[in-house]
This record gives sequence, structure tokens and C-alpha cells, in this order.
Amino acid sequence: MSGDLTLIIGASQAGVQLATSLRDLGDTAPIVLVGEENHRPYQRPPLSKGWLKGELTPEDVILRSRQWFADRNIELISGDSIVHIERDGLGGTARTAGGRLITFTRLALATGASPRKLTLPGSDLYGIYYLRDADDALTLEPHLREAEHVVVIGGGFIGLETAASSRVVGKAVTVLEHAPRLVGRVVSEDTSAFYLDAHRRRGVNVVLDARIAGIVGDDGRVTGVELEDGTVIPADIVVIGVGVLPRVELAEQLGLNVDGGIVVNEHALTSDGLTVAAGDCTIMPNPYERGSLPTVRIESVNNAVEQAKVAAATLLGRPAPYRSVPWFWSDQADVKLQIAGLSTGYDEIVLRGEPANEKFTVLYYRDGLLIAADCVNHPAEFLAIRHAISRGQTIPAAAAADTSVPLKKSVVDIAVAVAV
Ligand SMILES: Cc1cc2nc3c(=O)[nH]c(=O)nc-3n(C[C@H](O)[C@H](O)[C@H](O)COP(=O)(O)OP(=O)(O)OC[C@H]3O[C@@H](n4cnc5c(N)ncnc54)[C@H](O)[C@@H]3O)c2cc1C
Repeated sequence: MSGDLTLIIGASQAGVQLATSLRDLGDTAPIVLVGEENHRPYQRPPLSKGWLKGELTPEDVILRSRQWFADRNIELISGDSIVHIERDGLGGTARTAGGRLITFTRLALATGASPRKLTLPGSDLYGIYYLRDADDALTLEPHLREAEHVVVIGGGFIGLETAASSRVVGKAVTVLEHAPRLVGRVVSEDTSAFYLDAHRRRGVNVVLDARIAGIVGDDGRVTGVELEDGTVIPADIVVIGVGVLPRVELAEQLGLNVDGGIVVNEHALTSDGLTVAAGDCTIMPNPYERGSLPTVRIESVNNAVEQAKVAAATLLGRPAPYRSVPWFWSDQADVKLQIAGLSTGYDEIVLRGEPANEKFTVLYYRDGLLIAADCVNHPAEFLAIRHAISRGQTIPAAAAADTSVPLKKSVVDIAVAVAV
């Protein structure tokens, strides 16, 4: 094995997990993990939460220490990026921006995603920010501290978390969402409606169906966001969170199939049959057996970690198909959302609990089978549902509606549910 070298490109959730899993599986060949960011690998989720609220230091978000990598013979290159890559038979060569040549026998892409940029009149004004990485957060946080008025463009998870954190630190916050409801791509109308109320109760001004004419400024600096009806919403800073685009540049250089992400199979293997890919950069067969879509791109820590484990096993010639019950969380001020499963394609909903109390669960069903749940401030129900689905069980809709019975007591095997 001594001549072998595994090159992992992207040193974040998926890349670090891939390296970890290779070692956990007993692989001793050298690993080079290259990350273009000038930071030790860290967790992104806190950036829009505790970080913006000023509660965290860089140490708090670090994934692994430098010593941890050294102890496992994983060479970590930070602050340099792979700019050129080519395959030569089974192996290949990569070149970094800093001029280093790396010859590899195994290759993994964990290149993640970058924010979708919005081109609006005024987009070049000073005071417009995106939030994807630590540098973005380090740049944004001091400007947020000084700002009085914050406008967030985009009512998805990142936008709402940013809005909530900005409000917690006392800013006048407006969220502009183009769609008729918040986080509409992911959750039911009940959950969207709850978030609208919850943010408004906390003093966030939310504008739905927002039609933005442009960002306006004075002397090169942002002063507001103008809507098509002429309303100008004052802003000292504007934070844009309108989704991400998978980073596929290197996959394209390698001639791999790319279709809204790097196309991988259930073993995290790309179209060349040699390179693996994991995390936000991939589009894959739906790993969720109760999922309705044939292929999915999942942006979550859970997916990056689980798919990276699959990719590591594939690289070692021990492929096992990726099967998973996806889960996700979002913290907005003191409201914790936990999602189990994927709700796309649901035909029935059970609302359990009272959204006005800020503690409730929405359960999603398709053909009578529980496929997903949004749990708001209800970790016990989240765990009961996640475990039930993972064990191939369900919770009949009628039982789920009865709030006098704890959910975990209503879990049944699917065969039982069908017979009822
Ligand atoms: C602000 C924020 C909050 C979030 N909150 C949550 C949450 O609450 N819950 C949740 O589940 N998920 C959350 N996410 C999503 C989660 O962080 C991502 O799904 C996860 O980070 C994906 O990991 P990844 O390794 O696939 O990609 P990334 O984390 O994007 O990492 C990819 C890395 O590859 C590097 N790279 C790319 N190209 C090259 C190259 N050519 N050479 C070298 N390096 C390269 C990039 O610089 C980057 O560091 C959040 C994301 C953000 C931005």
C-alpha cells in the first residue's frame, strides 16, 4: 500500500469525515486533505447562529485539531486550492494554486457549494454580504455589530437564521422573501406559517412576495433596498441568502457527469468509476427508502458525514450502498427545528400540538406511511420519529393526532399499520 496516496479535495464536513473513515476502516496509506480556506476545518452551522450573536470564538467551531490530523498521518493543506487535475490510468495528478504537484492513486471530491449570487441594480455597493464560510462570517460580524438596520434577502434557513441572530443582538431586521411563504421548498404551509408568526412576534419585519427593484445607496454605501412598488426599506447592511450552487469545476475538468451537482451512484462513485464524491457538491440516487424523488441533492451536515462514510468504503473496495434517514436542524433565536426524513410528495399531514405555543410537530404521510416530520422545540418527538423510521416502523396518522399519548407509544411495525 505504501505507494498509494489518497487525495481528498475539500477539507470541511465531508472531506474530514472521508479521511476519518478511511482511518477507521484500517487504511494506512498516506492521505492528503486539501482545503482552500485559510482556516483549520470547522463547522459551518454555528456561523449563522452563535457566531453572529457574538457567543463563539474560532476555537469553538473547529472540527479537529492539527494534532488530530498529524496523529493519523493525514496531511492537511489549508489555504491552497487544487486548480488543475487530470487522471492518468487509475491514478492522476493535481496541481495547487501554490504550485504543489500531488500524485494520487485514489481521489475524492468534497468541494461543497458556494452561494448563489444575486445580480440586482446596486449589487456592487459596499455593505452587501453573503454567508457561506468563516471569512464571510468574520467580515460580516463587525459590520452587523455596527449596523442599525439589517435587510436579509431570502427567507430560507440561512436567511432566517441570520435574521433571527441579528434581531437577538438588537438590530431592526427585515426579511424579503420572493415566494408567498418562508422556507417553502422544504416545509409544509403549517411550518411556514409558524415561522412567519414566530419571526414577527420577535420583531422581525417579514415581507413575502417581495419584488426587489434594486439596492440603493449613497456615496457607494448601501442605504436601503427598493421594492418595485417604490417602498425603500432602510439598510446599513444587506445579507443575501438565496441558495447555493454545487462546486463542480474540478469534476468538469475530469470530464465527470455533472447535472446540477456531481453525479454519483449509491456508492458515492462518480461516472468515471474511480473517483468518489460526497457532500453538498453531489447529486445522488435518493438514499431514503421512503423518499419520492429518484435523485436528490441534500445540503446538510448529516448527509455530508453519512455519504462520506460510504465514499471511504468505496475507495477501499468495500462498497456498501448509501441508505439513510436524512435529518436536519435549524436554530432561529430560541426556536429549534429538527426535521426527520424528506417530506417531498406527501399527501397527508398531521399537526400535533399547538404552533402558537411554539412547541409542535408536523408529521407527513404518503399513502398512509409516515415519511417525515418537522419538530419545533420538540426533541423527544424528533427522536421517536427518527428512530421509528430508521427501524422500518411507522406511526399511524390517527394515533399521531392524539396528543394525550406520547408519540413513542404509538410506534408500530408497518405490517401492523397496514392491517389496522
Ligand atoms: C451559515 C450556514 C449554516 C448552516 N446550518 C446548518 C444546520 O443548521 N444544519 C445542517 O445540517 N446544515 C447546515 N448548513 C449546511 C452544512 O454546513 C453543509 O451542508 C456542509 O458544510 C456540507 O459539507 P461539505 O463538506 O459537503 O461542503 P462544504 O462545507 O461547502 O466544504 C467544501 C470545502 O471544499 C473547499 N473547496 C472547494 N473547491 C476546492 C478546491 N478546488 N481546492 C481546495 N478546496 C476546495 C471549499 O473551500 C470548502 O471549504 C449550514 C451552512 C451554512 C453556510
